Amino acid sequence: MPELTPPPLQNDCFALPPGVDWTPVPEALAHLRAALHPVVAPETVPLTQANARVLAADLFALRSNPPQANAAVDGYGFAGAATGDGPQILPLAEGRAAAGQPFDGVLPPGQALRILTGAALPQGVDTVVLEEDCTIGEDAIAFQGPVKLGANARKAGEDVTEGAPVLSAGARLRAPDLALLAATGHAEVPVFRRLKVAVISTGDELREPGQAAGLGQIYDANRPMLAALLEAWGHEVIDLGRQPDDPAQIRAALDAGADADAILTSGGASAGDEDHISKLLSTEGQLTSWRIALKPGRPLALAMWRGKPVFGLPGNPVAALICTLIFARPALSQLSGAGWADPLRVTVPAAFAKSKKHGRAEFLRARLTPEGHAEVFKSEGSGRISGLSWAEGLVELPFEAMEIAPGTPVTYLPYAGCGF
Ligand code: AMP
Ligand code: MG
Repeated sequence: MPELTPPPLQNDCFALPPGVDWTPVPEALAHLRAALHPVVAPETVPLTQANARVLAADLFALRSNPPQANAAVDGYGFAGAATGDGPQILPLAEGRAAAGQPFDGVLPPGQALRILTGAALPQGVDTVVLEEDCTIGEDAIAFQGPVKLGANARKAGEDVTEGAPVLSAGARLRAPDLALLAATGHAEVPVFRRLKVAVISTGDELREPGQAAGLGQIYDANRPMLAALLEAWGHEVIDLGRQPDDPAQIRAALDAGADADAILTSGGASAGDEDHISKLLSTEGQLTSWRIALKPGRPLALAMWRGKPVFGLPGNPVAALICTLIFARPALSQLSGAGWADPLRVTVPAAFAKSKKHGRAEFLRARLTPEGHAEVFKSEGSGRISGLSWAEGLVELPFEAMEIAPGTPVTYLPYAGCGF
């Protein structure tokens, strides 16, 4: 038997064979960003169904908001120029103006008219005095002047004028945007059709939650997580289930996924015996990169399969989530017509200490203390799913080495700033 000599123990899965470089995260992102373009056609939907959809055209106000001058308070309206300083006593005209119930006469100067919030200002009224500032008699009101000309009145178009731009193509519509569109006269909106994203889990060990699971088997945690993220981002989920570590079945699932606009797989992306995703993507697809310098996150396979982008995520749920937030989310946003969507990054003081090595970006499960400092989960183990759920965001540490002590400024990415 030939003599076997063991290599020196490294115990660092990031140690690289000599001469191999890892792609820094920003470089991998720039490559993705340059390679991907919107792939979705526009369609028209009723405003009531436009939430979370991506606008396909610039929109302009079809009507001013407010469309005409109106009262901002409940009170009494009059012509401001006919009043002055000191006590003012104005006779009350017959009738009133209320929201949706305009006064259709002309108010003579020197008279006052009962007017309610939202009522269109009748001709002859440009100023409103709050009812709380009035003494109300039988047929007159009294208040202290001066009341500023135009007080408590909203001008026509003071918010938005007809024809003015309201929202731009690429905007992902949120509740306030729907209010703006409704107010400016839009009943239907041009949006991009929703991006279809296929999700595939791989691994012989995976079972469906609820199924019996024996020795060596675990529940598929990635599919529900990825589907929930995609839904939160407004995409349509095509669930292609779990696939065993079998090249033929994975190939068939990828082929089915190619009917969607993009594919997210998890597991099998490394270079091991059962890592069929990376093998298939490199032999039958176009694998662009999988040696990206981030932790946790190795291995991430970015590839094309039958013309569709594939994000071959690591199987570890922690790494899968981080790679999805950092790589898949902005890229899918780009494909969906909403443009590249970097996560929100804020700088906060660390509530922890750590000595970080040079050579890869690191993401830690984190959340903010009541003082606004970033605390991190007690374990960095990438199998610790409880830490993902404990966290409310991530701390991002740069490629370079870094000594962190409590108080050191660090970059925090709240989950909420990643759209979920
Ligand atoms: P892999 O990337 O296939 O080598 O998997 C890395 C680790 O993640 C292994 O411990 C797998 O059992 C685990 N894993 C893979 N896929 C999933 C999944 N869908 N849900 C939970 N754990 C998974
Ligand atoms: Mg696996």
